[in-house]
Amino acid sequence: MKAAVVHDINDIRIQDIERPEPAPGEVIVKVRASGICSTDIKMLAGQGLPKNLPAVLGHEVAGEIFAAGAGVKGLSPGQAVAVYPIAVCGRCYFCSRDRHNLCENEFGLGHGIDGGFAEYVRIPRQIVDIGGVCHLPAGVSFEQASMAEPLSCCLAAARQANVKKDDTVAIIGAGPMGLFHLKVACQAGAEVIVADVLDQRLATARQMGAAHCINTEQEDCVETVRRLTGGRGADLVIAAVGIPKVVEQYLPAVRNGGIFNIFGGPPAGELISVDPRWLHYGEVNVTGTFAATPADFRRAVKLITSGQIEVRDLISHRFNLENMTEAVEHVRNQHMTKGVVIMN
Ligand SMILES: [Zn+2]
Ligand SMILES: [Zn+2]
Repeated sequence: MKAAVVHDINDIRIQDIERPEPAPGEVIVKVRASGICSTDIKMLAGQGLPKNLPAVLGHEVAGEIFAAGAGVKGLSPGQAVAVYPIAVCGRCYFCSRDRHNLCENEFGLGHGIDGGFAEYVRIPRQIVDIGGVCHLPAGVSFEQASMAEPLSCCLAAARQANVKKDDTVAIIGAGPMGLFHLKVACQAGAEVIVADVLDQRLATARQMGAAHCINTEQEDCVETVRRLTGGRGADLVIAAVGIPKVVEQYLPAVRNGGIFNIFGGPPAGELISVDPRWLHYGEVNVTGTFAATPADFRRAVKLITSGQIEVRDLISHRFNLENMTEAVEHVRNQHMTKGVVIMN
């Protein structure tokens, strides 16, 4: 089968590798759509290589069951599915408290085992057992379904913050994840403020339902958020960019008793400073969310397949295995909202 195999920094080769076989409890999915995530892009560009090279990346997978190993129930060849990408153990301290994304024994597609930038992908039994292989109803495209994973991560953030009707949510960064957050918050009935440096991205955010857009090069974001919220600040601020300086700068956009979510994964080694008096007297929660639980993922699939959250307008670029490395360029010049590798 064909796969995009990462061998080293900036060394990705489209090559023929052996098609995986299912061990007992596993399934093989014939990949039909595989979303490109910013972490994949960073790795494609040579930052943060996987430890076990060569490796196949890609964790936003939808496709058809190709083969099921012995003992697999309810999944048979030909069925259309979306796949939760983390092999969680289901038994550790965190899994038993429904915090699977913090599993102590986890690995997953594109980190630890081969991912979805290939014609076929092996789904380990942990993912099958946790109910992570989700059926898709007719009428939902594979590219739509491949958006379930990024959507699930944003649903996890909204769940943690208990976002509800009439809340004000401020989203810093109108890149792909910022726009997914926007969709989730709008669906929950919140009023959404989006901040970015690019007008073109803000125009997209406005089209997708943002009530207010702030170009942070022209306007003071914190001041504007406060003005729009009667001087209080937003109920929830989501930093959808992982830049510590940006996080630090926008902390005051959250209201007393509110939640500031560091959603974008920051680089190692850079610290921010926070006034403990502000945390204490303002009862502010500074937190983060990372990935999603299987329940978040199933909810994402449901919201997409029921049409409650439209994701098709987030997909701006389509690639195939041969030309997918061009995605790096599109991200560099910030033209791509979300790219998907399509396979037939
Ligand atoms: Zn992702
Ligand atoms: Zn676990």
